[in-house]
Amino acid sequence: MSRVYNFSAGPSMLPEEVLKKAADDMLEYGSTGQSVMEMSHRSKEYQAIIDEAEADLRDIMNIPDDYYVLFLQGGGSTQFSMIPLNLMNKNNKADYIVTGQWAGNAYKEALKYGNARKVASSEDKTFSYIPKTTREDFDKDADYVHICMNNTIYGTKYHELPDTGEVPLIADISSCILSEPLDVSKFGMLYAGAQKNVAPAGVTIVIIRKDLVGNAMDITPNMLNYKTHSDNGSMFNTPPCYCIYVAGLVFKWIKEIGGLEEIKRRNDKKAKLLYDFLDNSKMFKGTVVPEDRSIMNVPFVTGDKELDAKFIKESSEAGFINLKGHRAVGGMRASIYNAMPYEGVEKLVAFMKKFEEENLNV
Ligand SMILES: *Cc1c(COP(=O)(O)O)cnc(C)c1O
Repeated sequence: MSRVYNFSAGPSMLPEEVLKKAADDMLEYGSTGQSVMEMSHRSKEYQAIIDEAEADLRDIMNIPDDYYVLFLQGGGSTQFSMIPLNLMNKNNKADYIVTGQWAGNAYKEALKYGNARKVASSEDKTFSYIPKTTREDFDKDADYVHICMNNTIYGTKYHELPDTGEVPLIADISSCILSEPLDVSKFGMLYAGAQKNVAPAGVTIVIIRKDLVGNAMDITPNMLNYKTHSDNGSMFNTPPCYCIYVAGLVFKWIKEIGGLEEIKRRNDKKAKLLYDFLDNSKMFKGTVVPEDRSIMNVPFVTGDKELDAKFIKESSEAGFINLKGHRAVGGMRASIYNAMPYEGVEKLVAFMKKFEEENLNV
């Protein structure tokens, strides 16, 4: 067997240790005589799995007690509707910063339910930067402000949070959850689909301040009401059992290697290696302004579509897969989530160097 280096934006790589543990447990979990996939979600064994996953996540992210942790379904995209339905509930107003496609989708969905306002956008430069805002830019009466913290497609990231005053800040952290320490208390709510940095696709993690739950609009479908899930420990209906189990294994892996401080050290080191190469290359260029660069998603181009295509083809043949950029940006994108080893980036950079030498001025 030879495993490739998978630079996919999502679903993406999982740590090999986690895959091995899941494989060991596949036919029989503990001494239950069954796999986790076959287990009743009402069994005491499964209850222990979900409880431990929540406890480990709270521990790693240092989540305060006045926040719920929910394991939901529907992906990051279902949150785009759940957020306005549940939280545009005082003045029917919300402020959105549009820094890319996901942030834009969230904004468009909110327009259906109330007075959503686009406060700032970086669309003028193909979302290659994070727009600056001050407290005065936000409506004091807004029910919340929504941002996308790490823009998966465009490779930008908020390194400093916008100052929204008293208005709760909500962040989509689908592609940066668990990539570094984060002060949860600065947010009203955080959410992430699991398939970028946590688990297989199928579970969505919501971390929400308890006082924000319980005032959903009357039209809110029961399944889209946070209270339905917080009242029932994420077990109102059948949860995505197996995904939550794998997420739990990933949380344990993070704890074992030293928590989010260590994860950040590793991620910074990987990203620096790649960005330093891009900054010194005569062929490849990063597409994002340096101060707003993501440490998870690194888009780059050669400036020549044919050369991009050649690079994507040859890199894939060499075992570096899914480097093709999103159709909105073109070129290439290397997603270097937690599970991508340093060695994977090192080998990619060596490959890029060689490609540059072979193809420059030919
Ligand atoms: C992938 C992604 C989404 C969409 O997630 P789904 O689970 O596919 O709905 C939303 N926001 C961000 C930032 C993402 O990276």
